[in-house]
Amino acid sequence: MTKSVLTTSAGAPVADDNNSISAGARGPLTFDNFQLFEKLAHFSRERIPERVVHARGAGAYGTFTLSKSLSPYTRASFLQSAGQKTDIFLRFSTVGGGQDSSDFARDPRGFAVKFYTDEGNFDLVGNNTPVFFLNDPMKFPDFVHSQKKNPKTNLPDPARIFEYWANHPQSLHQMTILMSDRGIPRSWRHINGYGSHTFGLWNAEGERYWVKWHFKTDQGIQCLSNEEAASMPPQGAQQDLVDAIDRGDFPSWTVKVQILTEKAARTFPINPFDLTKVWPHELAPLQEIGRLELNRNVENYFAETEQASFAPSNLVPGISASPDKMLQARLIAYQDAQRYRVGVNHNQIPVNAPRCPVNHYQRDGAMAGTTAENQGSGINFYPNDASDLPAPSAEFAAPPLPLLEEAWVKPHSQDDEDYFEQAGNLYRIFAAKEKDRLAKTIAGGLCHAEASVQERMLIYLEKADPDYADRVRRAVNGLTTLSG
Ligand code: NDP
Repeated sequence: MTKSVLTTSAGAPVADDNNSISAGARGPLTFDNFQLFEKLAHFSRERIPERVVHARGAGAYGTFTLSKSLSPYTRASFLQSAGQKTDIFLRFSTVGGGQDSSDFARDPRGFAVKFYTDEGNFDLVGNNTPVFFLNDPMKFPDFVHSQKKNPKTNLPDPARIFEYWANHPQSLHQMTILMSDRGIPRSWRHINGYGSHTFGLWNAEGERYWVKWHFKTDQGIQCLSNEEAASMPPQGAQQDLVDAIDRGDFPSWTVKVQILTEKAARTFPINPFDLTKVWPHELAPLQEIGRLELNRNVENYFAETEQASFAPSNLVPGISASPDKMLQARLIAYQDAQRYRVGVNHNQIPVNAPRCPVNHYQRDGAMAGTTAENQGSGINFYPNDASDLPAPSAEFAAPPLPLLEEAWVKPHSQDDEDYFEQAGNLYRIFAAKEKDRLAKTIAGGLCHAEASVQERMLIYLEKADPDYADRVRRAVNGLTTLSG
């Protein structure tokens, strides 16, 4: 087989790729080294800004197979008939660390699924936890600053982490999950995924329902202790995923939903749009609706996983957002982040490109035409007088959402919510030994915090469950001698 000829990126054949051009064997380089300049200039631009959160991740392609029609609840085209298959891309991630941090931090895990449906991409940009640390997006930058490295030492700083939590009782539920035995997953394959937010579903009759998505790992939950995690190779979870898919051991998740009618949501005993809370299974049972399988590794990590651009605003007809304040803010923040990080035309990159026709009047911007030729000579404005060009269609309008209270425009605090009961419910599920390990893990960080931070945390724990506070108090004081 003959080798193809090396070329520049403009396609011109290259004669020598080992030696730069110089004025004599020992002389300086000359300006006609354009091939060298291209190599160095491209090399300098090989990185795009890494994600501020969820920087370290791994992704793979797969298939979502619907086992039960959701047509009574939604007109979403990929949720209509049992047996329907939809291609997906899933990116797992840790949250706090940079690109080259360990896969085995005690940290939530991102679980972001892009469904390539025939009516556009639906991105469910979730986590491995059903709840989150906050329920108002105003807090998000402060929260992330407090959990990341100390700005002076560039080292993890448990005192700052707990100082944030002591000022935000709404974090207690997620903090309990994070500090529990499930805080350090063994691999990407052994975690559950949750859409976490409440989303809307609307059917062909224009009736709206509220939904929560759950992806239960078929591999079983597996986690590591702090000691086990410390001895793992930093990229171990990525290796595990790549190897499993390469050997045909395709990981899968059973997909379930909880659904509430709009009417039931109005009288639900908890705020159904508060991201710090689950919908108790007893009140909203899980319904199995399908299976998600990963079956193809990426060919090029940068092009696919690094440039994968998820956005909760990627919704399809039949699925809507909800009044969840965190989701509302993510509708703008994620697209904005992708425009900054990858570029305004990120949806033209193959991993992000819809697998259905794209018809719009957007034009130009950096890298326009990567895959779509910038829509050639076609008309670039709407409305226009052409009969065959894209036009909106009212059939895709989501039903209007009524406001259920006198809608005063002002900052509304959610702090009259009960932030403690569900943390306590989870605590009470744990076996005695798990409670001890939880207390020890919390104490390991809390002992670095100021006394006033410790006191506030203990007050919150007391409200969740007096035994929870008691165990943590004893662990902070002695860091040993725990009882069952
Ligand atoms: P249930 O008894 O019906 O459900 C308990 C849930 O807890 C199960 O989904 C189980 O997940 C999960 N779980 C068990 N151990 C842990 C752990 N160490 N970390 C995180 N989750 C765990 O009770 P409720 O629905 O009333 O919920 C009680 C508490 O369970 C909640 O306050 C919440 O903290 C937690 N939870 C609830 C979920 C929900 O959607 N209702 C989802 C996940 C957690 P699995 O089946 O995977 O073992």
